[in-house]
Amino acid sequence: MGVALLAAQLNPISLASRTETSMGLFSLFWDMRQDQGIREAQDAAAKSARHVQSTQQELDELRAAVDRLSLMNQALWELLRDRAELSDADLRAKADEVDRRDGRADGRMGEAVAACPKCAKANVESRARCLYCGATLRGTDAR
Ligand SMILES: [Zn+2]
Repeated sequence: MGVALLAAQLNPISLASRTETSMGLFSLFWDMRQDQGIREAQDAAAKSARHVQSTQQELDELRAAVDRLSLMNQALWELLRDRAELSDADLRAKADEVDRRDGRADGRMGEAVAACPKCAKANVESRARCLYCGATLRGTDAR
């Protein structure tokens, strides 16, 4: 724009109309570019909103599934506790043992466990040899 103004001052008659035309075109292209940018931003916002909505729906479904599982788990435990004469302390002790099978007491299952074919004790599935008896747990890649 500075150059166009300078050119118009140097040759006011011939450049004035040309500058006006090019400024009009520039303005038109600028507006088109701005409109396109706005449309792209609106599309991105709508896409994000749909994504958030479907994630929220998935989260609600997962919460409902976890709630149903918790309820069934509690019912199963109470049946077993009463029929097998177990206590809540037995359950806590077992849960701690299962928790530690992956080498971490973090309240999570962690890695899957597999029973040793020789001593039947539970080992983290990624282990090549049994932690307790040293038996090979997987075919070829023994450590
Ligand atoms: Zn073993």
